[in-house]
Amino acid sequence: MNTVALRYQAIYLDVKDIDMNRQASPAVLAFVARLRERGYTLTEELFRALCAEPATTLADITRDIDEALGVNLNWAPLVKGWDVPTGETFLDHLVTWFVNVTGADVPGTELPCGHLIPDGTFPLERYNGCPYCGRPFVTANYVFKGQGSKLKELRLFRLSDMQHLLETLLTSPTPLDATQLDSVKRLIHHLPFAIHNGVVPQMRETRMVVIKCLMEQGRGDEAQPLMETPTDVLRYLWYEKTGQLQIIEPRTLIAHAGGLNRHLWPTADRSQEAIGSMRDELRLKYNRTYARCVASWLNSLSMSASQAAEQMHPKRGMWVRMIRALRLGEMSRKPGFERLRELLDVFYHQNYNTWQGQLDAAHKQNDRQKALALLCERPGLFARCLFSTMLRYGREETLQAFSRVTDKLPARLLLSLSNAAETYFDPEGFGGERIVRPITGTPKAIALNKMLSLYDLKERRRMADSIEEIYLQTMTRRFAQQGQKEEGSRVYIDKELYHIPLAVGDRSTTIQDTACALQGTCFQVEGDSVRLFLQWGKGLPAQHLDMDLSARIVKRDGEVVECAFYNLAPTGAKHSGDIREIPDQVGTAEYVELELPELERSEAEYVVFTCNAYSNGALSPNLMVGWMNSAYPMSISDKDGVAYDPSCVQHLARISEANLSKGLVFGILKVREREIVWMEVPFTAQTVAQLDGRVVEDMLRRLEHKATIGQLLELKAQVQKSSLVETPDKADERYTYEWALNPAEVAKVLFL
Ligand SMILES: [Zn+2]
Repeated sequence: MNTVALRYQAIYLDVKDIDMNRQASPAVLAFVARLRERGYTLTEELFRALCAEPATTLADITRDIDEALGVNLNWAPLVKGWDVPTGETFLDHLVTWFVNVTGADVPGTELPCGHLIPDGTFPLERYNGCPYCGRPFVTANYVFKGQGSKLKELRLFRLSDMQHLLETLLTSPTPLDATQLDSVKRLIHHLPFAIHNGVVPQMRETRMVVIKCLMEQGRGDEAQPLMETPTDVLRYLWYEKTGQLQIIEPRTLIAHAGGLNRHLWPTADRSQEAIGSMRDELRLKYNRTYARCVASWLNSLSMSASQAAEQMHPKRGMWVRMIRALRLGEMSRKPGFERLRELLDVFYHQNYNTWQGQLDAAHKQNDRQKALALLCERPGLFARCLFSTMLRYGREETLQAFSRVTDKLPARLLLSLSNAAETYFDPEGFGGERIVRPITGTPKAIALNKMLSLYDLKERRRMADSIEEIYLQTMTRRFAQQGQKEEGSRVYIDKELYHIPLAVGDRSTTIQDTACALQGTCFQVEGDSVRLFLQWGKGLPAQHLDMDLSARIVKRDGEVVECAFYNLAPTGAKHSGDIREIPDQVGTAEYVELELPELERSEAEYVVFTCNAYSNGALSPNLMVGWMNSAYPMSISDKDGVAYDPSCVQHLARISEANLSKGLVFGILKVREREIVWMEVPFTAQTVAQLDGRVVEDMLRRLEHKATIGQLLELKAQVQKSSLVETPDKADERYTYEWALNPAEVAKVLFL
């Protein structure tokens, strides 16, 4: 429970009344001192509540916080005192390679990994491990403490707060990000929960997590109300198999596994093996009890057999395999499963018309009226192909038809259309390609729709603008229907919210354990340096596992300089050395130090923070990345190079188990503004040099173009004739950053 509370800057205690006069015991005072070292302070209420707790509880809380911050891991990098570069050169690597391959007899030092480092090459006294193969021999069991300049205040969460949190997450009408979903998974096991009590999960992804929990507790029949369509059933079966919340077809997963294990060195290429083992992993096997449960879900669907069969059509191949593996045919002959029998019958004989088939026919005959009429029957699908339909049948007629169904669409869908229109129609003529994010999560450039070439830039601008107009009109109408507030109602909107895009697409896939932040959040840099860190290999046995931390410095004139394992000390940045193997269980670390004054002098405009897997496979689960900042100097050990201090951590994120990407952009430092924007862009590349710069630029551009929470709140205030005030205490309605962290609360106000 505290793992979740900490994400909301809180500590959970099961207390009712708090004695505000109770004195602190020595254990509590010691606890408070430990928290300060880690950069935390407490509210008065939480402090008094803790005074009544036994020392064991305090110890448990300390353990949870240390776990989240990775305090007990190994934070020693390859180089000791790495703020002073070792001066190692490419020649050092070349000479060492030559000596080790030929076995030449030269004076040198033999290291535990078996490599001979010739005298006169690497300055060995500076390394914690082998500079040639990147295996560490030294681990550290400490971190620095208390150098941070800002303490984060923790507040008290009671049982009712935790229950409220779970309920709002479950009922959120917008999809949850990875941290929120993880919180649901943790809370649902601790808190009593039943669908019958009116807490019905709204989003499909959330439903899957809930169903899995019910199945684990042997309450599969209670999941029935959450299975509305056959697609829900398939989604769940596939989620259990793959851990992915979206239905990714087997061939996509298999191809992706191959891609992740392709290597720059042909001898290290493991793509064929990965393809084989993914195939095995996806083989289906179910026992009878399980099959019976699935059969009764399908048997109890409220839609007709032909409707259900039509829905199953696009994933026909997967269904055929599932039906066979679950032996549903056999099951359907049993009494009580008549509806299932009918469904399978219709499905196998294909006694259904697909709406898609009719639409394709209308397109082929170029029957505009028929096509638009069909699209109006399915507003959600109309929205999905709105842009291409505009190109096919023209802006005016298409939008006329579309405006008849906008009131049936959720606001978040209209918003994501308006966010996407700018890149789709490319009205500035950036040309040739647009960036999309396919189902496996890694954005890539694809060719623009070829029908775009039929229209000039002016008409394309009109197309993009009219989508935004539709969105604004719809929202204005919905806000107006809410009614006007009493004369002179005052609203406070946090300035920060004008930077935060409304979360619809691009959801975070990392887990943020110390404090969840919304993508687009700006962190102010206080001192002259920013220190990036990467820690990986926690809980794994010693092995080769090469993850890399890099910074990509983009100059004003467009020149790009990378600070990475192959370029350890460019102007304004220093890297702590390339570790390629991990020690047993405690993991290992890399750092990059960025010096702002130097970066500014060298005309750097922004710095992109990235980490990626050089080893085969995706980024390692439990890998932690983030950055530190403090107004005070942050130490680097001369003895072993440790440079981590939890109290200086400004933001950190952890890679989740469901991660499919090989690389991740996790922040951008705007040098002149001295601020860091938290954002997340996965990419597929073995090194930072292969990162497609356009993807990052596109992300920045989109963050700037996207409608922000602040803007929409302001529109609402305008429509409802309220006035804006500068401080929260003068307002009747307050919208703070903390308010925005709760997706359900935001949705309640903005996604009408
Ligand atoms: Zn070695």
